[in-house]
Amino acid sequence: MSETWSVEEHLDDILSSVRPLEPIELQLLDAQGCVLVEDVSVPTSLPPFDNSSMDGYAVRTADVEGASEEFPAVLAVIGDVAAGSGDLPVVGPGQAARIMTGAAMPPGAEAVVPVEWTDGGLGAGPVESMLPGAGVDGEVRVHRPVTTAQHVRPRGSDVRAGALALSAGTVLGPPQVGLLAAIGRARVKVRPRPRVVVVSTGSELIQPGEQLGSGQIYDSNSFVLTSAARDAGAIAYRVGSVTDDADTLRATIEDQLIRADIIVTSGGVSVGAYDVVKEVLSQIDEGSGNVEFRRLAMQPGKPQGFGLIGPDRTPVVALPGNPVSSYVSFELFVRPAVRALMGRASVRRETARASLDVEEALTSPGGKRQFLRGSYLPPATGEALGSVRPVGGAGSHLIAALAQANVLIDVPEKTTRLTPGEEVTVVLLDQ
Ligand code: AMP
Ligand code: MG
Repeated sequence: MSETWSVEEHLDDILSSVRPLEPIELQLLDAQGCVLVEDVSVPTSLPPFDNSSMDGYAVRTADVEGASEEFPAVLAVIGDVAAGSGDLPVVGPGQAARIMTGAAMPPGAEAVVPVEWTDGGLGAGPVESMLPGAGVDGEVRVHRPVTTAQHVRPRGSDVRAGALALSAGTVLGPPQVGLLAAIGRARVKVRPRPRVVVVSTGSELIQPGEQLGSGQIYDSNSFVLTSAARDAGAIAYRVGSVTDDADTLRATIEDQLIRADIIVTSGGVSVGAYDVVKEVLSQIDEGSGNVEFRRLAMQPGKPQGFGLIGPDRTPVVALPGNPVSSYVSFELFVRPAVRALMGRASVRRETARASLDVEEALTSPGGKRQFLRGSYLPPATGEALGSVRPVGGAGSHLIAALAQANVLIDVPEKTTRLTPGEEVTVVLLDQ
C-alpha cells in the first residue's frame, strides 16, 4: 500500500466508474422508487366526464331557484345514478335523478343538491334516503337552491388530455404511481433498481438463529448491508457469510456476478493472515488486478477496496469487517453508487448543521476524517440549529451504540478538538 486516499477521492473514483443502468419497462408497482426516463403525457382528461362530488340529487338549477325549508322545490325523482353506471336518465324540467359521489352527471342536469339539503325523498331522513331504492320514483323536497355546476367536478378539472403528467427524471413515489394509474398507464420506462449482492466473509461467522460455538460470532454485517442496500432503493441479495478460504470466496463471487449490478463484500481487506477478499479480488480477472485496495484517511473504515470485475465490469466494493466501519463505509461509498446506478440526481445523504451536545471537549485524530455516531435532535421551534450528542465511543465494534444513532457526525480531517456547543455537520441517516 502506498499513498493514503481521502474519502472524497475514493468516492469520486467509485462514482466515475458507475453508469446509470439501462432503462427498462416496468409494471407500475415494480417502478416504485425508480427514476422515470420518459415524459408521460395525459391520454384522456381527468376526470374523464363531469361527475358529482356529493351524494344527492342532480337537478336543473331553474327548478330549485328560491327553494327554502319553508317553500321547498318539489321534484319528481326519475332514476338513480350510481358511480360506474353508464346508463343515464335524462333530467327534464321539474325532475331530479338521485346521484352518488363519482357518478356521471345525467344529461339535462346542471348541478347537484347534496342530500343534506333535501328531505331525502319520500320523507325519509337523509341517511336512509341514500340506501338503494329509497327515494326513487317518488318525490324529493329541495330546501336550498344551487348554482350551475355546483357540486360537479367538471371533465378535465384535474388534468387535461395532452398535458404533461410527469417529466423524465421524476422519482416515482406513491403519489406519482397513483397519477400514472389514474391516467391508465400500466407500464412505464424507468431505470431499474440495482441488484446488490452482499457477501460477508469470516470463518468466525454463523447465522442468527444458530447456536454460538467457541470463538464464533453472529454475522451481522450481511444483514446491515442488505437492509442498507434496500433502504437505498436496491434489490438486495444476501448471500451470507463465506469462510476465509480463497477458493470458496472466488467461486462464490464468480457465481454471483450473473445477477449483480454491484457486489459488496465485508471483511478480509486489512493485512491479517486470513484476509482473503484482498487476495481473491486482486487476482480475480486473470491477474489483471483491477480491484484496488487502499488506505483511506478516515475513521472508522481505513482499509477499502474498489474495482470492476467480470465480463460486465461489475463494480465491487470491498468494505472492512468491523461492523461500524462496514456500515459507515456503506453509507459513504456504496449508497451513492446505488443511487448513481438508479440515475438519481442527488446521490448523497442530506446533511444538517447541529450544535454539539457534550459536557467536555472531544478530541479527533488529525489528518483523518472521522465519522462519529450521533443522536440528533432537529431544531426546536424558533431555533436555528438542532443538537447532536455522540453515542458510544470510537470503537468500530460498537454495534449497540450504532443502533442508537440517527446521524454520523462528520469531523473534518484538520479538526483535532471539538468543544461543547460547537457547530458540526451531521449526515442524516433516516431521511
Ligand atoms: P476483518 O475485516 O475480516 O478482519 O474483520 C474485522 C472484525 O470485524 C473482526 O472482529 C470480525 O470478527 C468482525 N466481523 C467481520 N465480519 C463480520 C460480520 N459479517 N458480522 C459481524 N462482525 C464481523
Ligand atoms: Mg475476517
